[in-house]
Amino acid sequence: MLVFFTDLDGTLLDHDTYDWQPARHAIRRIQTGGHALILCTSKSLAEVAALWRAMGLADPVIVENGGAICLPPRYFGETLPAAVVRGGWEVLELGAPYPELVRALGEAAGVSGVAVRGFSQMDTAEVALRTGLPLETARLAHQREFDEPFVVEEGDPALLCAAIEHLGYSWTRGGRFFHILRGCDKAKAVRRLAALFRDHRSVARTVGLGDGLNDAGFLRETGSAWLLPSRQTEELARLTPGARVAPAKGPAGWAQAVERELA
Ligand SMILES: [Mg+2]
Repeated sequence: MLVFFTDLDGTLLDHDTYDWQPARHAIRRIQTGGHALILCTSKSLAEVAALWRAMGLADPVIVENGGAICLPPRYFGETLPAAVVRGGWEVLELGAPYPELVRALGEAAGVSGVAVRGFSQMDTAEVALRTGLPLETARLAHQREFDEPFVVEEGDPALLCAAIEHLGYSWTRGGRFFHILRGCDKAKAVRRLAALFRDHRSVARTVGLGDGLNDAGFLRETGSAWLLPSRQTEELARLTPGARVAPAKGPAGWAQAVERELA
């Protein structure tokens, strides 16, 4: 089997409209072929779960930039000993608790003199405005557990990032927001989940699809990597030697890359 690890925004979802319909047929082909499709995203579990159901998926998901791996119950035949069972998922918690991240971001902002605005300071309407998501989806996006998205309102982001690192935390940058995390990233989560697949299934190859700099690490973990065209493609290509650039942006390009892997 093949295991596909894919970013969402700007990759499987259109960057502006969040549409994924052009990829519908390719998603079906992954499923009917007995392969796995792993969503690997900065989104919260609440938001991903709604998409996962709409897409008719049955495989694990990686949420909040690798903060957690969430598996359908007994996906690998038994409940994983390290997992917490909640909300109908087996959750492998890899990140630091949200209140701690919010505190650390405030401290880093104070130390560096950079003004930030995090999700914890925004109401649902503001999250909707900043993401372009409908209010109901923004409500789900707002439910963070292991990653605080934020924007820099004033000052040098490099100073803030250095302060974050100095406090023992890490940061990453997606298409719209910076994120503060601790002890986790998409690459570590992909490595852990790929190892579980190799232990329990017969994996011929892993495939990665992404469009942003925060995807570089996890794309390097996969056997075959695809870059979806974005403003960051040139820089991302330098970080992912051997990766191929998909022939179109977003879900249409995603579908073509997947068809090539399945051919
Ligand atoms: Mg993206």
